[in-house]
Amino acid sequence: MLPSCRTAAAAFLAAGVLSAASCAAPAPLPPQAEFVLGTVCSVNLFEGGTPEAYREVFARLRGLEDLLSANKDGTEVDAVNRAAGLGPVKVGPDALAVARSAMRYAGLSGGAFDPTIGPLVKLWGIGSDDANVPPPEAVRGVLPLIAAGDLKIDEAAGTLFLARPGMRLDFGAIAKGYAADEAAKLIRARGIKRAIVDLGGNVLALGSKGFLKPWRVGVQDPAGVRGGYLGILEISDRTMVTSGVYERFLEADGKRYHHILSTKDGYPIENGLVSVTIVAASSTDADALSTSCFALGPEAGMALAESLPGIEAIFVDSSGSVRVTEGLKKDFKLTSPDYRLAP
Ligand code: FAD
Ligand code: MG
Repeated sequence: MLPSCRTAAAAFLAAGVLSAASCAAPAPLPPQAEFVLGTVCSVNLFEGGTPEAYREVFARLRGLEDLLSANKDGTEVDAVNRAAGLGPVKVGPDALAVARSAMRYAGLSGGAFDPTIGPLVKLWGIGSDDANVPPPEAVRGVLPLIAAGDLKIDEAAGTLFLARPGMRLDFGAIAKGYAADEAAKLIRARGIKRAIVDLGGNVLALGSKGFLKPWRVGVQDPAGVRGGYLGILEISDRTMVTSGVYERFLEADGKRYHHILSTKDGYPIENGLVSVTIVAASSTDADALSTSCFALGPEAGMALAESLPGIEAIFVDSSGSVRVTEGLKKDFKLTSPDYRLAP
């Protein structure tokens, strides 16, 4: 049965996409959602949304999880991690592409973003059943293993190699973005011009809602409940990715420990930011940059975002101040009274 306009609109709202359902157009096939990549992934094809099209997209997302997850046995990333200090591992084009992009952002962020963060992510376990505040000496002990320079990419041989035993790759800060871009490729290849791919808040908007009408996407309120938003962003053929303290955290001893970790001291980063949203053409870039800019902090992070062509950003700090890059001001509207726009 096809959904009523109201049901469809509720689904889009839940996915963070506002007013996407049009009651004038023929009712679209319902959006599909699956738990993949450790989150709820929803895809909405506003045209050409056949069961085969949806199946193909979700099969690709599951396939990428099976290659790129650091949490599962048998993935290519798992094989590279197991061979740390032993030898290079042959991987496919997806893992190579993600590693290449990750290294670019490790460079651009001066190491604040680091795909070899794996030992720290595992030690803290934030978001998993094993989440705990590790003893300071354990944190100090793994810091020398966080070293992007020791991830060796051999493009000709198609291999990845972690040079020292104990090193671990973790693509958690970039692979959802890559997956969104890959989903978009498949959707475009089918000639579909209007779609929303939402991988747990990592939103890629294909085409626009209508003629001269952009999509309207809610920017998550870092202090609010999931689905609550602080403002609305209008985008067409662009992607919006947010990194925030609210996404995954552990509460212990009356303190909150979130999941974006400092490569310098090994602890959740406390720099006054509560979220960074990046708007870009590529979701891989936006995902890597949302984490990179968050990790760099309000000043250096904003400077990095502003230095890159085609990149826009929204930085929210714990005082409720919202800084928006110049190029995004016309597309972003603050709607929550709990926040104020910085000049
Ligand atoms: P982002 O800011 O984009 O990334 C934060 C994540 O990046 C952290 O959770 C950590 O993994 C890593 N990270 C932390 N600090 C840094 C740093 N300084 N530099 C670089 N990276 C850093 N979740 C599950 O619970 N179970 C699963 O089985 C699971 N499988 C996954 C498989 C894949 C392929 C991917 C991409 C994700 C998976 N996840 C899983 C989710 C994952 O563990 C992260 O929590 C998630 O990707 C965080 O994304 P984000 O957009 O919220 O935050
Ligand atoms: Mg990210």
